Amino acid sequence: MSLTERDQKVIWHPYTQMKNALPHIPIVKGEGAYLFDEEGNRYIDAVSSWWVNIHGHAHPHIAEKVSAQLKTLEHVIFAGFTHEPAVQLAERLLPLLPGDQQKVFYTDNGSTAVEVALKMCLQYWVNTSKQSRSKIIAFKDAYHGDTFGAMSVSGRSIFTNPFNALLFDVEFIDLPNEQNIAQLKAKINYLSNEVACFIFEPMVLGAGGMLMYEAQYLDQLIETCQQHGILTIADEVMTGFGRTGKYFSCEALSTKPDIFCLSKGLTGGTMPLGVTTCNQKIFDAFLSDDKLKTLYHGHSFTANPIACTASLASLDILLSPETLPNIQRITARHKEFAQQISGHPKLKDVRQLGTILVMEWETGTDSSYLSELRNKLYLFFLGKGIILRPLGNIIYILPPYIINDEDLMYIYQTITEALNDI
Ligand SMILES: *Cc1c(COP(=O)(O)O)cnc(C)c1O
Repeated sequence: MSLTERDQKVIWHPYTQMKNALPHIPIVKGEGAYLFDEEGNRYIDAVSSWWVNIHGHAHPHIAEKVSAQLKTLEHVIFAGFTHEPAVQLAERLLPLLPGDQQKVFYTDNGSTAVEVALKMCLQYWVNTSKQSRSKIIAFKDAYHGDTFGAMSVSGRSIFTNPFNALLFDVEFIDLPNEQNIAQLKAKINYLSNEVACFIFEPMVLGAGGMLMYEAQYLDQLIETCQQHGILTIADEVMTGFGRTGKYFSCEALSTKPDIFCLSKGLTGGTMPLGVTTCNQKIFDAFLSDDKLKTLYHGHSFTANPIACTASLASLDILLSPETLPNIQRITARHKEFAQQISGHPKLKDVRQLGTILVMEWETGTDSSYLSELRNKLYLFFLGKGIILRPLGNIIYILPPYIINDEDLMYIYQTITEALNDI
C-alpha cells in the first residue's frame, strides 16, 4: 500500500471533508522554500506551511540547536521547575515586543495563547474587584483559533456554525476606516464599563480573508479602550516575527497593547509553542495572598524545552543581518507585482502588507469560502509546483523569507497565467 492509501485508512485531516477529499500528497523532505513528495516532485511552499515556516524548511541552525537540546533535556514539568531555554527565550522576546511587556506565559499553540489572554483579562476584573466586566469586543471577521474561547471571539462563519449556540456573547465591530471610526469609538464609549477587553489581529485579519486596515484607526480604538480601562490584546499569532515587514505588526502603532499572543512563526515553524505576554499591570492583578487569585491554567507541554530552543534558534536567524533585507526584498517584489496586476478585470482587489500579497478574484455571485473557483485555483497552482491555498476566492502569497527572486517571479508568472486561463 502507498502512504496515501495507508493515510486514507487511518487519518482524519484538518479542515477537510473526508468524503471526497483528494488523495493527500506524501511529503518526504523539506529544504528551504521547497517541499518534495515521494516521487521527487518539488513544490514551492508559498504559504509557509500554514504561515508558520519563516526561515525555510529543515533550517540547519535550528536543526543543530534542537538536536543538541534533545540529547540534554527533552521536557520537564514547568510548575515548580524551570530551565534555561524557557528563561532565555522570555529574556530575549520581551524587549523585542512593542510597549512594556514584562512576563511570558507559555502554552503550546496559537489558540491556547488566545485562551490564556482572554482568561488573564476576565480574571483581571474578578481579581481587582473594581467592576464586574465580562464583555469582549472583537472584529466581525476575526480569526483567533479553534478552541471554544478562541472560536467565541472569532467571527461567526462556516467554521463555527455547528457550535454558535454554545459560544459566548461577543460585541463584534467592523474593521475601522475613515468613514466609521467615529461610530466605532461611540460604540466603545457606550459599552465602556461593561467591557473587559478588546482582542484584535493588528492590521491584517488572517483566516478571515487577509483583510487589511490602517494602524492609525487601530490606535484610535485602543486609545478609546484605554480611556475606559478596557484591556487590549494583540493577537500577533500570524503577523508576528517579520510577516508584515516589521518584527511585530504593532510596531506601527503609537499606543501599546496590554497583552500579546504569539505562536506560528515563533519556533520558525519547527515545533508547536504558544506565548502570551503581558505588562506589569496585568501580572500584578494576580499577585495575592488569596490563592483564588491564581491563574489556574497550564498544559502538559507548557514551555517544552525543545520548542523553546527552536524559538531561540529562530530568533538568531530573524535578528541576523540577512533577514530584514530579505523581508524588504520580498515586500518590494510584491509591491511591483501588485501594481502590475491591479485593475485586472478578474481581480476585485489587490492588497499587500510586508511579505503578504493578497488577490481577491472576481466571482460574480458565488464568493464564498466554498466556491468552486477555490479548488480550481488550488489544483492549478499545485500542478505548477506551487503550494497556494486560497481562502475561497482569495489567493495570497505568504512565503518563507529565504525564498529567492527567481521563485517569486515564477509564482507571479503563474498567477498571471491563472488570471488569463481560469
Ligand atoms: C492561526 C491563528 C491562531 C490559532 O493558532 P493555532 O496554533 O492554529 O491554534 C490564532 N490567531 C491567529 C491570528 C491565527 O492566525
